[in-house]
Amino acid sequence: MKKTTDFRYNTGATKVPWAAVGENYNAADLMEIIRFLMQGSGEAYDNAIAAVWEQVKKLSDISTPPGKLSLASKVEEAETACNEYLGTTTSTFVTNATSGFEIAYKYANLKEGDEVIVPAITFVATMAYPLSVGAKLVFADVDPKTINMDPADVAKKITPKTKMIVPVHIGGYPVDLDPIMELAKKHDILVLEDAAHAFGAMYKGKKIGTIGDFAAFSMHEVKNITSFGEGGIATTNIPGFGDHMKRARFLGMDFSAPIKDWLYNITPIPGKEKPFVALNYSTTEIQGLGLTLQIARNEEIIAERRRAAEYLTNRFKANDAIIPQDLGNDEIKPTFHLYLLQIDPAKAGGDIQVLKKKLEEKGVTQIAHFGPLYRFQVVADMGYDQDAIAKTCPVCEEVFYKRFTHLPLYGLSDEQLQYMADAVLESVAEMQAGK
Ligand SMILES: *Cc1c(COP(=O)(O)O)cnc(C)c1O
Repeated sequence: MKKTTDFRYNTGATKVPWAAVGENYNAADLMEIIRFLMQGSGEAYDNAIAAVWEQVKKLSDISTPPGKLSLASKVEEAETACNEYLGTTTSTFVTNATSGFEIAYKYANLKEGDEVIVPAITFVATMAYPLSVGAKLVFADVDPKTINMDPADVAKKITPKTKMIVPVHIGGYPVDLDPIMELAKKHDILVLEDAAHAFGAMYKGKKIGTIGDFAAFSMHEVKNITSFGEGGIATTNIPGFGDHMKRARFLGMDFSAPIKDWLYNITPIPGKEKPFVALNYSTTEIQGLGLTLQIARNEEIIAERRRAAEYLTNRFKANDAIIPQDLGNDEIKPTFHLYLLQIDPAKAGGDIQVLKKKLEEKGVTQIAHFGPLYRFQVVADMGYDQDAIAKTCPVCEEVFYKRFTHLPLYGLSDEQLQYMADAVLESVAEMQAGK
């Protein structure tokens, strides 16, 4: 029996409903979904699939399909799980982190003439919205130890036009937020945490993503946990904005006070300077379910990544030309999304490009996440002078081209981890021997 809340138009008890879901998934569809999520081949697989199909067919006669596929109880459950995990009340499950950022940028009324400080090294998603509205991106240089935004350089680059600072917790290693929050408070600037890599990271006793005015986590497939490939959690510390963020996710719909003869109202979202119009970043029930399941395992996942990072860091202590990933301490707890491997070119007898080539030859996958943002063509074509920017980010230039790359951490066997550590140590030894 459908519940009244399963109807698109919830009119209470009714004889003739108007279902929310047009066409549901049938048993044959479901079977294809199982096949997709659990892929395989060979006789054993075919037999198991055939057996599952027999049961799924039976199940379809006695089960009820979901009455809602978008923005309902599963999305709410995922948000509740996030709230409990993060210690906030404002988690809003959106299509991806990029749309979470967009809500924050719109709250700030970011437009041409405004400045936003972003780190020189991050994923393009951090800067996409400012670039798209013609706001001026100011690239902060990075801290050579973490490759995160350097608060001291941020301080130098603040102007009266600076509206936002966007610290990015690269690889899940927390940015030093205290000085950034202090600067922001002093100059009345909003802080948006790009916490795409950092779900579960801690900074001085607080969860990352609960410190800035806004934050967004990514649940894209490549991150530590996912909601079937895409998803993001947005949070806010702006008093009273949590409920508005929910409306900002779905076209500004307000069911609490409908207009005359209609079911809801559409109200603008209050912003810092002026209200703004909401777009649509709604997520699905199946994504909600997927996210809740993974949140429950997040601490285990971080622990496993941490174990791998500890192993690598301990191995790399054998050669002082290698600067291993910092493992954190009581105050700084990373999520170990990426393993930051750095070398000292003077001691290694060559720079990271040489090491990268050697690792590639040994079959070790390593990719520096990410390059200098200002090197993309879109930045040049929007009128920025790339070389002039590079001069304001000397540490970024040095670390990206000469010193760092990232190693994989998750889903590797002990043998693979050992092989990778051996390969790094051997390669650096070869470089030191001039080979
Ligand atoms: C993945 C990523 C994003 C964007 O996340 P989406 O959920 O794909 O929008 C933003 N910033 C960084 C640093 C990322 O790695």
